[in-house]
Amino acid sequence: MKLIDGKQTAADIRAELKLRTTTFEKKYGKKVGLAVILIGNDPASQVYVRNKIKACEEAGIRSFAHYLPETASEEEALSLIDALSADENVHGILVQLPLPQQLSAEKILAAIPPHKDVDGFLAENIGKLALGEESTVACTPLGVMELLKRYQIPVKGKRAVVLGRSNIVGRPMALLLLNADATVTVCHSKTLSLKEECLRADILVAAIGKPKFVTADMVKEGAVVIDVGINRTEDGKLCGDVDFENVKEKASYITPVPGGIGPMTIAMLLTNVVKAAEKNA
Ligand code: NDP
Repeated sequence: MKLIDGKQTAADIRAELKLRTTTFEKKYGKKVGLAVILIGNDPASQVYVRNKIKACEEAGIRSFAHYLPETASEEEALSLIDALSADENVHGILVQLPLPQQLSAEKILAAIPPHKDVDGFLAENIGKLALGEESTVACTPLGVMELLKRYQIPVKGKRAVVLGRSNIVGRPMALLLLNADATVTVCHSKTLSLKEECLRADILVAAIGKPKFVTADMVKEGAVVIDVGINRTEDGKLCGDVDFENVKEKASYITPVPGGIGPMTIAMLLTNVVKAAEKNA
């Protein structure tokens, strides 16, 4: 079994991005810029936003943090997005989810211009991905593809099984694997005979949010196992959707949690910001 080191790969990517942001700054006389909008007081969101801002700084990206109160109205949020859309120093706009309940995420995200949608959540970007066209892709599944590429794990012609069909992970993951010529099966909570589906996977991606759900008896000998899940066990430790200790004995490659897909997600966000800046400067 080979361990896929997302932490090290993400550090490599951040170092590469630093060179690109330096070149950008020399060429255009300004920094690559990411605006981050946090609405409300969700503690986990505050941590995520802090981490994203710190990662930006390390990669030479200027961050513009905007905090709106829990009670913010739709008009306030939309007028902020309008201003950031027009701001030439801002190459990407990220709205941290979830939003307070009075706000519609759908409506607010739709106000971001597609070329500044660095999360790849807009219908236009997802539509292009579905059509197999060049687009900005959601960071987590993009991070999975980047790891497969950097570890030279072949995807073409392989049988890939994706557990989960959410708009931010499972669905774009399946489309990326399909676009890379895998034969893709998507499983979800209504899937019958889930174990049999998993056992056929050469590449198994778990993104369901259930601690240690994927057990060794669900994994084919030699399969590549990618664990997107982030969960807590009863004793408060982080764990993925895969029963790592037992599954690693059967897998050819496996990602750990933490240190797998998590750090890659932020690295791909930074990549999307730098790409957006280079493309639209
Ligand atoms: P969602 O809750 O939005 O989606 C979960 C998906 O899993 C759904 O499609 C659901 O099916 C499916 N599912 C749930 N239970 C089962 C089951 N018993 N059997 C089969 N399928 C099931 O979660 P997300 O996609 O947002 O996230 C998934 C996991 O990935 C979470 O642990 C999350 O924390 C983590 N995550 C990690 C990130 C990272 O950076 N590493 C980033 C984003 C998420 P159905 O559609 O039928 O309801």
